[in-house]
Amino acid sequence: MYDCIIIGAGPAGSTAAKTLADKGFKVLLVEKFKLPRYKSCSGVLIKKSMDLVKLYFGESTPQFTMCAPTENRGMIFTTDKGKEYRFEQEGLNVWRSSFDNWLTTKAAESGAEVRDGTAAIDRKEQDGYVTVTLHGEKTYTEDARYVLDCEGVVGSLKRKILSKPQGYITTFQTFNKGTVDLDYHYFYAYLQPELSEYDAWFNVKDNLLVLGVSVKDPSQIAGYYARFLACMKELHGLRIDEETKSEKWLMPHIRPGCAVQYRAGRVFFAGEIAGFLNPMGEGISAGMESGHCLACAVAKHFDDADMICADYRQSTATLKTYMERQWGFVAGMADTFAEKKLK
Ligand SMILES: Cc1cc2nc3c(=O)[nH]c(=O)nc-3n(C[C@H](O)[C@H](O)[C@H](O)COP(=O)(O)OP(=O)(O)OC[C@H]3O[C@@H](n4cnc5c(N)ncnc54)[C@H](O)[C@@H]3O)c2cc1C
Repeated sequence: MYDCIIIGAGPAGSTAAKTLADKGFKVLLVEKFKLPRYKSCSGVLIKKSMDLVKLYFGESTPQFTMCAPTENRGMIFTTDKGKEYRFEQEGLNVWRSSFDNWLTTKAAESGAEVRDGTAAIDRKEQDGYVTVTLHGEKTYTEDARYVLDCEGVVGSLKRKILSKPQGYITTFQTFNKGTVDLDYHYFYAYLQPELSEYDAWFNVKDNLLVLGVSVKDPSQIAGYYARFLACMKELHGLRIDEETKSEKWLMPHIRPGCAVQYRAGRVFFAGEIAGFLNPMGEGISAGMESGHCLACAVAKHFDDADMICADYRQSTATLKTYMERQWGFVAGMADTFAEKKLK
């Protein structure tokens, strides 16, 4: 019997696993992909994420997880009316596969048992514990007092537990050799409705120009992406010599009110699967913070699931208020975020 089975080795799951292992709990962290696993991401660690890494993992983000330019100096928004806002802030540029794998390694060093290539495919609530069905080379079960579901945006287990599906935004980004007349140290977000149904973005990773659009309707990707490229060519002299990769992903569609799902029985949710995500898809800090808060609540009230939930809600209240404020702020910059133009 494990104290906790944690599902998903992203920032939320690895932070929760390390926090509980440090406190002496018997923890199993399962990840459906072989580690290091790939995650589509701009890989910007904002200052808050950098600080949380130090706080929860006891050291600074290591150099080997970073890509060039290693320093991110902030974010530059263009509103739906074409007005530019600059937010200068210290940050880092990382490859998520290396960064997340480092977090998982730290959790393992603290004593968490890590099983990669293993998906949680079902769970059954028992009297005082949960039986989790795992699928790796074979299908088998493990028991735990609690499950900490940190599955990320598409939670197959969560979909089995809760019937109401979460809304999604589809992201599409390409990696390109080429040049553009912009400062590579910044993350650029464009909120003009003709360029995306949510946001379009540009940043640089190891000299590759990353260009992305996000949409509510995936059939619209090609049109929005073509308009975004044309706009970047016209306004910033974008020149693409070769597209090296393109990828689609999902992120939760955060709606005004920023609903969070904390719990279903003895299963608790943290990170994106719970609904923790900041504007422009900044979710690493929210993943780590919610994973840590949940782990602390479990450690403090181990014999009382209701108390765990109450504590978890309370300790993430500031995070949720911050999210609501930030999404409210972005809604002021573009109607799509205020849902005024939703079909
Ligand atoms: C295009 C894009 C760009 C982004 N850019 C940034 C950025 O620059 N900065 C930032 O802070 N955030 C960014 N984000 C958001 C960020 O990636 C997420 O918010 C963050 O990864 C959420 O962390 P998590 O731990 O909740 O989930 P994840 O990081 O998604 O981790 C969940 C893990 O669970 C595993 N898993 C899923 N189901 C199961 C299962 N049934 N059994 C076992 N394992 C399972 C998955 O394989 C995955 O490894 C971006 C997102 C996208 C899509």
